[in-house]
Amino acid sequence: MSHPSLSPPLAGRSPILPGATLGVLGGGQLGAMFASAARRMGYRVEAVVDHADCPAARHCDRVHVGLLDDPARLVALGGRFAAVTYEFENVPVVAARALNAVVPVRPGPEVLFTTQDRGREKAFLVAHAIPCAPHGMVRSRDDLLAAVARTGLPAVLKTCTAGYDGKGQRRIDSPADVDAAWESLGPAELVLEGWIPFASELSVVAARGLQGEICTWEPSLNHHRHHILDCSLAPSGLPEATVRAARRMAERVLEALDVVGVACVELFVTSDGGLLVNEIAPRPHNSGHLTIEAAVTSQFEQQVRAVCGLPLGSPRLRSPAAMVNLLGDCWELGEPDWNAALAVAGVSLHLYGKSAPRPGRKMGHLTAVADSLAAAEAAARAARRALARGAVG
Ligand code: AMP
Repeated sequence: MSHPSLSPPLAGRSPILPGATLGVLGGGQLGAMFASAARRMGYRVEAVVDHADCPAARHCDRVHVGLLDDPARLVALGGRFAAVTYEFENVPVVAARALNAVVPVRPGPEVLFTTQDRGREKAFLVAHAIPCAPHGMVRSRDDLLAAVARTGLPAVLKTCTAGYDGKGQRRIDSPADVDAAWESLGPAELVLEGWIPFASELSVVAARGLQGEICTWEPSLNHHRHHILDCSLAPSGLPEATVRAARRMAERVLEALDVVGVACVELFVTSDGGLLVNEIAPRPHNSGHLTIEAAVTSQFEQQVRAVCGLPLGSPRLRSPAAMVNLLGDCWELGEPDWNAALAVAGVSLHLYGKSAPRPGRKMGHLTAVADSLAAAEAAARAARRALARGAVG
């Protein structure tokens, strides 16, 4: 049963139990996997989406198309839900704030406000003494020159909003690159970051409940290709002290942001074992997909638990796991050979139901579990290679 008449403060005190209707803003694969976990637990789920033909539509009880930019209609819809969460950070904050006045939005709108803008996110990290890359805010070419003087080169210029998977970024290697970078991204709100010669990239997915209780999953070691996540491995194999420090840093971020829900903290690990926060995502994360097969509680089940004010489940990994993404590129030679991939022991397939396999588009992923991390990684990579070998053109 849903609780349309509960005011947010009352709803905030009592857990939202199976049978209630949850709203999710966004219709991508993260919304689909949230909805799938929530429906397995007995909730109804309705998504607010841009297009009816989206990954979440197949897993929800209902979708509402085209309301994300319309706070008044979103608020009118709010009474249908016992709580609302989101699966991407570019939800308009005005809409999230208006909705939060009628139904709890978790994580709260102010979390969105901070994390959807790289400049605000950096200011938040600095204010809480959480280490991040040296940086400078850029609104003009003169700002850019001043920021370069501050960070040194190489550096990377990024748009503050709407950038993902390396979009909206330009590397600056020498003073001769400054004008081209400004012309390609400016004028806009930008941030220049010093280039970090990191030894590895780590991410920590963490959940925080209504009473402030926090749990973190085993951090994943991440490999990117062309700025897009390619492979995540857990456990990371990094020294225990680094892993402990990474988990603690993620806890500090979730506490300081007052997150209720799931969030991911992406980190650079420097050669001396130092940690710098690269980015915060206030939602489940691609690098946490392996928790579906490998952890006692997946990041999506935990999102349901946290958003509903239920006890958090154990994040313990049952076994080492590797996840590789399946981009549209896998379709280059024709329909991938699913049969060959699934013949590899320990491999699970997730396809998001997107119709157009464009290069660079995340179409699905493979997760392999095994007794050792090396075996899991080998299985996931072998399965992905097998897709292309037998592709049906
Ligand atoms: P982002 O969209 O900011 O997460 O950047 C995507 C990827 O680009 C990161 O995962 C890194 O591999 C790389 N990258 C971004 N910023 C930096 C930086 N300041 N120093 C080194 N590598 C970076």
